[in-house]
Amino acid sequence: MAANKSVLFLPGDGIGAEVAAEVKKVIDWMGDNRALEFDVTDGLIGGTAYDQTGSPLPRETIEAAHAADAVLLGAVGGPKWETLPFEDQPERGLLGIRKEMGLFANLRPALVFDALADASTLKYDVVAGLDIMILRELSSGIYFGEPRGIEDLGGDRRRGYNTLTYTSDEVRRIGEVAFDLAAKRNKRVCSIDKANVLQATVMWREEMIKVGERHPDIELSHMYVDNAAMQLVRNPKQFDVVVTTNMFGDILSDCAAMLTGSLGMLPSASLGEPDESGNRPALYEPVHGSAPDIAGQGIANPLAMILSFSMMLRYSFDLAGEADAVDAAVEAVLAKGLRTGDIMEDGKTRVSTEEMGAAVLAELSAAA
Ligand code: NAD
Repeated sequence: MAANKSVLFLPGDGIGAEVAAEVKKVIDWMGDNRALEFDVTDGLIGGTAYDQTGSPLPRETIEAAHAADAVLLGAVGGPKWETLPFEDQPERGLLGIRKEMGLFANLRPALVFDALADASTLKYDVVAGLDIMILRELSSGIYFGEPRGIEDLGGDRRRGYNTLTYTSDEVRRIGEVAFDLAAKRNKRVCSIDKANVLQATVMWREEMIKVGERHPDIELSHMYVDNAAMQLVRNPKQFDVVVTTNMFGDILSDCAAMLTGSLGMLPSASLGEPDESGNRPALYEPVHGSAPDIAGQGIANPLAMILSFSMMLRYSFDLAGEADAVDAAVEAVLAKGLRTGDIMEDGKTRVSTEEMGAAVLAELSAAA
């Protein structure tokens, strides 16, 4: 199979650059062994970009992101840049690129590898084999709604307010992503709202039902967010794709993340609106940050970054076979007992970032 895909590679700061180096080897392996041509361009973002160009998001990076088929990002931030003015801080680079690319759908899979099921704070039976997808609306809702602010009411009294707002178009477009994802998974969508209290989410539910009518082969259910939080820890395996608003998704995706153990294992994807030729802007990144406490020591877990590349293969390039191969290689190294410090358990073998990357490559080669 031949594919010519352009990838913008943004390692960023701290362990971002360390885990990026390992995924680069996996990308090269795919080029050498699966005849997939990836044109990888390196770019700058975050504190490293600020140091070299005076901006956490240089114009060249924005242009390269628009030109690429997909963007793969490490992490940004660190104490070195914490005292910079707000607009120069590394995190502005991340928020800026998401905005520039018009990313509105945030995919956060919560997948528990068998070998790590014991590492969860929940019982083995509750999480073993877990494979759910939390889909968060990323561009609207209460985080962006107007009016918002804090006003003086006179004396020492003030009023703080935000507005939960969604248009039907915004609900339908995230709904379509949810149903598309479910079609490639277990064909179930659970939409989370608070329709018993919040009018905006009454409309959310009604629009989801309309989207659902266009996808009769997918089962649609609804749940109030308070119940969903409870169900996520009680019996998470009842879900397949969970779709929800920006704020509910922010909270529920972190809750689901913790079912799986370590931050070092969690990939994510953010998708935008497809253009006329059907190409969808997409940014893939591990959920973790730049981990300044361990940066430079060569001990970071590169698996979240490698799994983010696997998501790129699956969702941007429709290369499910290659994505499955990467996921299986990760599963295999874990089954062999290799662990970076963050997922270390008694009786397992502690490895460095580089050794973990090399082990994934060895498993890919062994299975090829
Ligand atoms: P963090 O995710 O960087 O680290 C939290 C803890 O998890 C640390 O103890 C760290 O050592 C550990 N950890 C994270 N990823 C790991 C990995 N791959 N392997 C092993 N251990 C890992 O979050 P933080 O400490 O709150 O933030 C540090 C910096 O990262 C801040 O500047 C923050 O703004 C930034 N940040 C960036 C992103 C991003 O780029 N997407 C996300 C979160 C935080």
